[in-house]
Amino acid sequence: MNVSFDYVIAGAGTAGCVLARRLLERTDATVALLEVGGPADRDEVIRADIPAVTSLWGNPEVAWLHRTVPQPGLGGREVDIPQGRVVGGSGSINALMYVRGNPGDFDHWRSLGNPRWGYADLLPYFKAAERYEGGPSSLRGGTGPLHVARYREPSQATKAFLSAATKLGYADGDWDYNGDRQAGGAFVYQSTREGGERRSSTATAYLEPVLTDRRLTVVTGTLIDRVELAGTKAVGVRLAPGGDLVRASREVIVSCGTLSSPAVLMRSGIGPPAHLAEHGIDPRVILPGVGQNLHDHLLVGVGYASQVDLAPPELIAEGGLFTEISHDVPELQFFFGPVQFIDDEYRTEGPGFTFAPVLLHPRSRGELLLRSAHPAELPLVNPRYLEQEADVRVLVRGISLARELAATPAFTGIRDRELAPGPDTDLVSYVRRSATTVWHPVGTCAMGSGDAAVVDAELRVHGVTGLRVVDASIMPAITSGNTNAPTIMIAERAADLITASGEGLIAAGGER
Ligand SMILES: Cc1cc2nc3c(=O)[nH]c(=O)nc-3n(C[C@H](O)[C@H](O)[C@H](O)COP(=O)(O)OP(=O)(O)OC[C@H]3O[C@@H](n4cnc5c(N)ncnc54)[C@H](O)[C@@H]3O)c2cc1C
Repeated sequence: MNVSFDYVIAGAGTAGCVLARRLLERTDATVALLEVGGPADRDEVIRADIPAVTSLWGNPEVAWLHRTVPQPGLGGREVDIPQGRVVGGSGSINALMYVRGNPGDFDHWRSLGNPRWGYADLLPYFKAAERYEGGPSSLRGGTGPLHVARYREPSQATKAFLSAATKLGYADGDWDYNGDRQAGGAFVYQSTREGGERRSSTATAYLEPVLTDRRLTVVTGTLIDRVELAGTKAVGVRLAPGGDLVRASREVIVSCGTLSSPAVLMRSGIGPPAHLAEHGIDPRVILPGVGQNLHDHLLVGVGYASQVDLAPPELIAEGGLFTEISHDVPELQFFFGPVQFIDDEYRTEGPGFTFAPVLLHPRSRGELLLRSAHPAELPLVNPRYLEQEADVRVLVRGISLARELAATPAFTGIRDRELAPGPDTDLVSYVRRSATTVWHPVGTCAMGSGDAAVVDAELRVHGVTGLRVVDASIMPAITSGNTNAPTIMIAERAADLITASGEGLIAAGGER
């Protein structure tokens, strides 16, 4: 295959599917969308219930089975971080929670030297994505591709969780944490198809409706090796193993996700020169930040046996709580669900429920390096989880808060004994022994203008023309919540930047 398109999008994940749709809608261009995984319409992929989702995470047919190198902060453990390997990417295998993040997260991005990435600038893109079941408002979108609905049938335990949060002084649970205020407890919002029973990802919501467009070519089952450069201009994407070139007359957009996009750049000769040279790659563009700044959300489970039967939930978490601790943004998010979401050694027969405090803003920063120059070989993933003591302290505080919630009268008649960590356990060692990923790696192609930045505020790779990165890897700092909705927002904004030559039509108040 030696063919040419106007735009070549490498990676048909959450971001790639949004971009393909918007570029087709807003230009007369031809678009190639290249993906190593298969189509997203497999039954087990689009079912949203709990067992179906979790079984996808170890399935190499739909997931990249990334595993970290040993993590000293976790007692030397290696942690599995599956990522989607199917059209729709991680959004096709994720847990469907819909969380935009805190306005302060995006104002922080802007303050890092990224003009027009503050919350007020980005709100139009969140709205453009969304078909909110409550209808449009100044804060929510009503006509976008992605259906967003509140969790429908929370269990008795989850209702108790929300009243416990109220008793501890957090705002009550009947409001919209994606609206004007995030802190407090709420039932989760999820991205599902209307009717609720089927997964809605960007593959189903954005891509499916334009699959018959003749200007779109979707190639599945194709492994991307690297971006082809002519000097410092991106001219196409080189495929493996045959080396076919898919040419791009306008732009190449890399959307391979946080654990793959930096590897694609490095194989293209864009990155830290000494590391590239170690693998026999000719350094073409020196960008020391490629693969750096890797960070992720971590959770620990605080599990209880239940006195009452609890039906299995549709999602892992039915309720959530964001706590305000510092710097205007929440430090902790809680997932709460009527399941025993704790390590096997703590589980018991019978019903249970789990509070899972999530470290929202880790101080620890890690890196991603190539294992070899071969595109089929997974990179070395080293998030340096819990390297910073402050991160441990936040999770210990989360355990204490979980216990305070469980001890309120709201759980009387429901709460049985604490299964994990258990009353006699040292909390710091429990955190280091059991903390695990929430599958939200970000930051390896960070947006900004300093030496560590990889892309500029228009997501163009520094020092290269005709090349952008558009996916979760560009987040300079992780958001206060699950990362799919902000990744969709990033791709919406990118489409706007690409088609308006940097002006940003939506942000400037223009209509699609
Ligand atoms: C198990 C799990 C649960 C999650 N739960 C939630 C949740 O409940 N709510 C939430 O908001 N977020 C959740 N997330 C996170 C969220 O889904 C991701 O942040 C988001 O999907 C990232 O989008 P992306 O476009 O950056 O990358 P991805 O969606 O991962 O897309 C990257 C795509 O590029 C392809 N690709 C990569 N390398 C190559 C290559 N060399 N050649 C060809 N193709 C390639 C991949 O196969 C993939 O399809 C979860 C993630 C996981 C994995």
